Amino acid sequence: MNLNSNVDLLIVGAGPVGCTIAERASTIRDWRSVIIDKRDHIGGNCHDCTNEHGQLIHKYGPHYFRTNQDEVLNYLSNFTDWIPGNYVVKSSVNGSLYPFPINLTTLEKFFNKSFTESEARSFLEDLSLEFEFPSNSEEFILSRLGRDLYESFYLGYTKKQWDLHPKDLSPSVCGRIPIRFDRGESYVNAKHQCIPKDGYTSLFSKMISSENIQFLGNTDFNAIKQNFLPKVATIYTGPIDEYFDYCYGKLPWRSLAFEWKTFEEQFVQPCVQINFPNENLYTRSVEIKHVTKQNLDTTSISYEFPKSQGDPFYPIPNESSSSLYDKYRILAQKETENSKVFFVGRLAEFTYINTDEAILKGLETFDKISTLNDTT
Ligand code: UDP
Repeated sequence: MNLNSNVDLLIVGAGPVGCTIAERASTIRDWRSVIIDKRDHIGGNCHDCTNEHGQLIHKYGPHYFRTNQDEVLNYLSNFTDWIPGNYVVKSSVNGSLYPFPINLTTLEKFFNKSFTESEARSFLEDLSLEFEFPSNSEEFILSRLGRDLYESFYLGYTKKQWDLHPKDLSPSVCGRIPIRFDRGESYVNAKHQCIPKDGYTSLFSKMISSENIQFLGNTDFNAIKQNFLPKVATIYTGPIDEYFDYCYGKLPWRSLAFEWKTFEEQFVQPCVQINFPNENLYTRSVEIKHVTKQNLDTTSISYEFPKSQGDPFYPIPNESSSSLYDKYRILAQKETENSKVFFVGRLAEFTYINTDEAILKGLETFDKISTLNDTT
C-alpha cells in the first residue's frame, strides 16, 4: 500500500481508539486502514517500552487497566494474556504513608481511633458539609469527607495537578477517586482489574498486525490529509480544537513531564504509586514494576510534574471549557455529516476517560461506520 492508493479508513492517532477501529475494520469488513500518528510509536499514552535496563516502563504515566465491561475484556483477550492488577497506592501526608483511596485503615490512622464500617459512616456524616448538589470538586469532597481530609489528601494535590483550585473543577475530577468503608486497597473500583501480560504496546501491535493496516509514525495530519480520500471515513482522534485550527480559541489541556531514576534494588517503594498532596513539586512517584511483576535486580521510579505546556494529557473539565467544547462539537457534527470525519476519544471529544472506555468508544464507532459504504 502506498500513500496514494485508496484506503477505506484514514485513522488519525494510533492510540486505543484508532487501533481498535483499524482492527475491527480489517477483521470484520476486510477494510484497509492507514493509521497516522505524530509520534513515532503506537499506543498513544498507553505506550510502554523497555528502557536500557530491560525494564518495561509506562512512558506517559501509569495505566492501570480496569473495566466493568465484559465486552471490552473479552475483545482485548483476543490479543493478550493478563496478569492481575496490583494497583495499591499510598498517600504521603504529614510524613506518613496512608492507604489511598481513603479506607477504614486511613481513617483509623488519620483520626487515631478505631472504626467499624457503620461507625466510620456516621463519623464522616458528622464531619461532612452539606451540599445537596455539589457543583465543583471542593464541594464534592467536603460533602463526603469534611474539611480535614479534604485539605490533607485532595486540596494540595489537585492544585498541583491542575493549577486550579478544586472549586474551579467539575465534581467528576475528585469524584474519580472512590471512598471506602472497608479495608480494600486497590486504587480503582472495577469488576476486572488486570494488565496485559506483555504490556500495552505488544497488545496494540497484535491488534494492528494485519496487512490491511499500515502505520505511519512521525506524520502530521495537516501535512498528509491532501494525499488521502478514504473510501469510507476518516477517524480523527487528535485534539478537536487543533482540527478546526483553534477557530474558537484553545481548549484548556493539562500536560505532564516525567523524571526517571533507576535504582540497583529490587524495589524502592512499598507499592506502585505514592501520591504527594502537600510536599514536592511532583504529584506522584510511580514504580511500575509492582504492576508489571518483572523479575529484575534493578527498578525505576518516575516522578510526575504537571505542566501547562506540552502534549495534551488531560482535558481540564469545568463550566467554561465545556461550553467552549460544545461550540467545537457542533462543528464536528457538521464535519461528520458533510465529510464523514468521525471525532472519537479523549482528545477529540475533550473527555477524561480511561483506557477501557476508549476501547469501547472504538468498538461503538466501528459499529456506527461498518455499514457506511454499503449503500454507496
Ligand atoms: N486527587 C487528589 N489526591 C490524590 C489523588 C487524586 O486530590 O492523592 C484528585 C486530583 O484532582 C486528580 C483526581 O483526583 O486529578 C483524579 O485522580 P486520578 O489518580 O484518578 O488521576 P489520573 O490517574 O487520571 O491522573
